[in-house]
Amino acid sequence: MHNVVIIGSGCAGNTAAVYTARAGLKPLVIKGREAGGQLSITSEVENFPGFPEGILGPELVENMKKQAERFGAEFMHGAVLEADLSKRPFRIRVEDEWIETLTLIIASGASARWVGLPNEQKLIGKGVSSCATCDGFFYRGKKIMVVGGGDSAMEEANFLTRFGSEVALVHRRDTFRASKIMLDRAKANPKIKFLTDTVVEDIFDVEKGEVTGVKLRNVVTNHVWDQDVDGFFVAIGHIPNTAVFRGQILTDEDGYILSQGGARTNVTGVFHAGDVQDRTYRQAITASGAGCMAAIEVERFLEAEGH
Ligand code: NAP
Repeated sequence: MHNVVIIGSGCAGNTAAVYTARAGLKPLVIKGREAGGQLSITSEVENFPGFPEGILGPELVENMKKQAERFGAEFMHGAVLEADLSKRPFRIRVEDEWIETLTLIIASGASARWVGLPNEQKLIGKGVSSCATCDGFFYRGKKIMVVGGGDSAMEEANFLTRFGSEVALVHRRDTFRASKIMLDRAKANPKIKFLTDTVVEDIFDVEKGEVTGVKLRNVVTNHVWDQDVDGFFVAIGHIPNTAVFRGQILTDEDGYILSQGGARTNVTGVFHAGDVQDRTYRQAITASGAGCMAAIEVERFLEAEGH
């Protein structure tokens, strides 16, 4: 029986682990399918306070993990496949193992959203990617395309110009969700070519087992054309990882947990932290702050119950 199980090992989960471990609660952290969360697939992080020269995302999140382990947090590989939050202790299934816990912190984050094209899934890892930091290296001197109009798309496009001969940025509108500084940086990069009001209709070539090109359509003129592409990077946002809690935890229509104040969910003893609840700020520092809040709530909750 655990005092607290933390689902997710990104900034939110790892910070919750630091705090609950330091409080002597011996937290168990379930790492999840995407261990380290979004930071593990980010390059330079320039806006996490305390690092005036910036720090690499994977290094930052690994540091948090080490810090939690120093105080006795345990980390477990695997993902939560089932959960029973109907009574306490709560029960969760990690791969084949059922685990019981007095409290739960859901810090399972949000995963990459895909465009949804039939060939997209078939070509993941064969030219289609959601992670420029992971896969950019493979496209040295090649033609790269990035889809999206937010900060992620700008960041990925800029990063990918280190490798690609050219980077085409495809966005379905002609105005951008990206912040001005990120958009300006991308626009000032001579290697990035913007294709606005444009959607991707298909990706080739499944038979060859690699990306060779895409079919594009201008949504204003309806002009359709094919374009050669070697690396296709999708940066169109994320989907919260709450499917295993469906029907048990209150979420909004997109699956983001609805906070009941502080880090509380509608289930007493279950708390949230990070991107799984936050569709507004979604920063490393806000996720860490939320992890801290959830940990403090767990401490107070268990103390009030006399544990
Ligand atoms: P986002 O801000 O939600 O932007 C998603 C983009 O993808 C939007 O431009 C959206 O188009 C487009 N999109 C969504 N679904 C699509 C579809 N099916 N087909 C084509 N395009 C689609 O997501 P994000 O860029 O991942 O950013 C998430 C958060 O992280 C933001 O708060 C951002 O500021 C933050 N972030 C910060 C940094 C940084 O500061 N270094 C870096 C990355 C991310 P529409 O605009 O038309 O809806």
